[in-house]
Amino acid sequence: MSDKADKIAKIKPLPDSKPRYARVLLKISGEALMGKEQSGLDLATVDRIAGEIKHASDIGVQVCLVIGGGNIFRGLQGAAQGMDRASADYMGMLATVMNALAMQSALEKIDVQTRVLSAIPMTTICEPYIRRRAIRHMEKGRIVIFAAGTGNPYFTTDTAAALRATEMGCDALLKGTQVDGVYSADPKKDPKATRYDRLTYLEVLARDLKVMDASAISLARDNHIPIIVFPLHKPGTFVHVLCGGGPCTIITDKAAAPLS
Ligand code: UDP
Repeated sequence: MSDKADKIAKIKPLPDSKPRYARVLLKISGEALMGKEQSGLDLATVDRIAGEIKHASDIGVQVCLVIGGGNIFRGLQGAAQGMDRASADYMGMLATVMNALAMQSALEKIDVQTRVLSAIPMTTICEPYIRRRAIRHMEKGRIVIFAAGTGNPYFTTDTAAALRATEMGCDALLKGTQVDGVYSADPKKDPKATRYDRLTYLEVLARDLKVMDASAISLARDNHIPIIVFPLHKPGTFVHVLCGGGPCTIITDKAAAPLS
């Protein structure tokens, strides 16, 4: 184990950390794995996020992951340069498999058992996606990493995250971002952007808030899976949010209680 991995593995969650959720899906965008780089993988960042996932597992939460591929390739980019869209999307899905393998390696370095399950069968490097098998892995305490999105072009890994969270019977879908929740506009560009603590799925759709794509929000809404948007780049926030604290925006069916 490297010194850094060793250090991460030794950080223990607070003793009174009581998770609110038994099983969650964490969606990590490809960009979250770039660290300060402009593209590709920053392995120190992957190691840090792996440490966060280990903490969640240590406090008894069953965690599965969907990882994007935008740090390596997006289908739309390829299509914009003249590629056939479906082929470009398959390349995007392959990028998610590379990220999944990087995360698996980082988790196994700190002694976390993992399985990568790909929506596009590649049996030499990972297991094919089989729903019951994925559930069984989680019941055994393994971190399941879903790779290759939904396996279909014209979709995104956000939709894959909502789909797998539904199939796995997750209590929540957590989306790690670079900011501390959902804003009315991009807070990096608009200083007047306001932050929301709570939103409904319908508000996200009607205001076209850039949280996840509309099909992912609709799927979560149809299946009543809360979406929690939180800053994955802030160390410790994942476990904090799982225990009901931390900066985040919660998206459910229910509107925020009116101020009295
Ligand atoms: N993709 C796809 N079908 C899926 C999931 C992903 O075709 O079900 C492709 C699509 O081209 C997408 C790329 O994979 O651009 C990478 O995924 P995404 O853009 O969702 O990654 P993220 O933005 O989360 O890093």
